[in-house]
Amino acid sequence: MRYNDQHKVRVIAKERIEKLFRLASECHSRDPVLADRYVELARKIGMKCQVRIPKRFKMCFCKECNSFLVPGVSSRIRNRHDGKGKVIITCLKCGMIKRYPMNREKIRRKKDFIG
Ligand SMILES: [Zn+2]
Repeated sequence: MRYNDQHKVRVIAKERIEKLFRLASECHSRDPVLADRYVELARKIGMKCQVRIPKRFKMCFCKECNSFLVPGVSSRIRNRHDGKGKVIITCLKCGMIKRYPMNREKIRRKKDFIG
């Protein structure tokens, strides 16, 4: 595949991923199974076209079971104040636990490092 084609594919893939997450957030209250399916499709597109899932959606799904995570419905969110500060997200479907650092300074430094 030529570079240009590959670029086009990635642009389209990214659009589709965003659309699928939007659809999932719209339909999860009516049809959670469908929302999970949208997440699964979005991740498949991402893997196939080598497109990362946008950062703002990273906390919205479970990596283990592809379920769409809605706080209080399909996930539980806890803050831990142990000096460092952490957000802990638990998937209520499979029990997978994700931890995110809350240290702003650290996050900023990481961002600067990556660019
Ligand atoms: Zn899960």
